[in-house]
Amino acid sequence: MVIIIGAGLSGLLTAYHLQKAQIPFKILEARDRIGGRILTYYGSKGTAVEMGATWFGPQHQLLIQLIRELNLGYFEQYMQGTSYYQASAGALAQAIILPNQDPSYRITGGTTELIKQLYNSLDKDSVLLNQTVNKLELQDNSVLVKAKIVLKAKAVIVSCPPKLWAHKITYEPKLPENLIDVAKATHTWMEDSIKVGFVYPEPFWRNNKQSGALFCNSGPLTEYYDHSNEEGTKFALCGFLHPAYKKTTQQERKLMVLNQLKEVFGEKSLLFTEHFELIWPSEKHTFYPSLSYQFPHQNNGNDIYEESYFGGRLLFSGTETSAHFGGYMEGAVYAAKAVCDRLNSGF
Ligand SMILES: Cc1cc2nc3c(=O)[nH]c(=O)nc-3n(C[C@H](O)[C@H](O)[C@H](O)COP(=O)(O)OP(=O)(O)OC[C@H]3O[C@@H](n4cnc5c(N)ncnc54)[C@H](O)[C@@H]3O)c2cc1C
Repeated sequence: MVIIIGAGLSGLLTAYHLQKAQIPFKILEARDRIGGRILTYYGSKGTAVEMGATWFGPQHQLLIQLIRELNLGYFEQYMQGTSYYQASAGALAQAIILPNQDPSYRITGGTTELIKQLYNSLDKDSVLLNQTVNKLELQDNSVLVKAKIVLKAKAVIVSCPPKLWAHKITYEPKLPENLIDVAKATHTWMEDSIKVGFVYPEPFWRNNKQSGALFCNSGPLTEYYDHSNEEGTKFALCGFLHPAYKKTTQQERKLMVLNQLKEVFGEKSLLFTEHFELIWPSEKHTFYPSLSYQFPHQNNGNDIYEESYFGGRLLFSGTETSAHFGGYMEGAVYAAKAVCDRLNSGF
């Protein structure tokens, strides 16, 4: 049996490939939910508000292929009308014209649909939640995987971010020092993000010929976009807060964001029905403090992740290991296929 550590996009997709190849597997997931950095919250009327991964572009061909294979739809990010730029909160919001660029797309019904479809294709008993793996031990012809339960595996695929498995899992025998050093110095994409979203009964911004997009250097909101559904029947705005605001209380953040929204979009922005936020740096199964400053995508796709360890029985995957769009959903899709190919060639 192959054990996959982590039920994010790469772990679930690895399982999907193994299932097709009729290789038995189990996934051990630390959280009480699947999806990892993909998490859509839904308003009471079903409005999808993305707290994690949201957009992809025409360059993300593997992801697009997967979306089609799973019979999901996608649609272009709404960007019609006036967008705004503020140098800082309180400063005058300036109407801006965005440069021509490739469109961004979102998955119909929310990015979580991708996770649900993959999960639905798997045998439910194969995904075990609340299982934080903390030790991997090589034995004669197998690896002992220790979480709340202990399982014996022919091979193990680790699909959580490298910083996490380098700091929080112990290995017997020890892994090479250079691998651990690179992993500790591998940036985890978006681990610092704070997302916030508001659901509205009416698209007041669209009615005012505004796109809903706002860009601000200092925040609290730094990037903000329309998050209405494809049909234009459910309405929301959603975006990013400056990471410094993780230090304030939820109530303070909400007040500051609403003040900023009122400045830019007017009083109607206060007439929301639901408010969501997610502080990713508080998520211990995503975030780990860095030993020193890491630049975005640092060490993503480092060659060292293509090696196998424990005599070919231990392989590393996950988007940060991907040489192709590491950090993004596209990277996770690439990594899942690449690790299965390596596994098949190793045994
Ligand atoms: C706020 C935010 C916005 C983003 N926006 C975009 C975007 O617009 N477009 C895009 O392409 N990408 C975006 N991303 C990145 C995208 O979410 C990731 O590329 C992708 O989801 C990574 O999937 P993964 O399976 O490699 O890793 P993860 O999703 O991190 O999955 C790893 C899994 O391992 C589990 N785990 C951790 N430690 C252990 C352990 N010890 N034992 C067992 N399980 C463990 C975790 O709980 C998690 O479920 C965003 C991410 C965030 C956070």
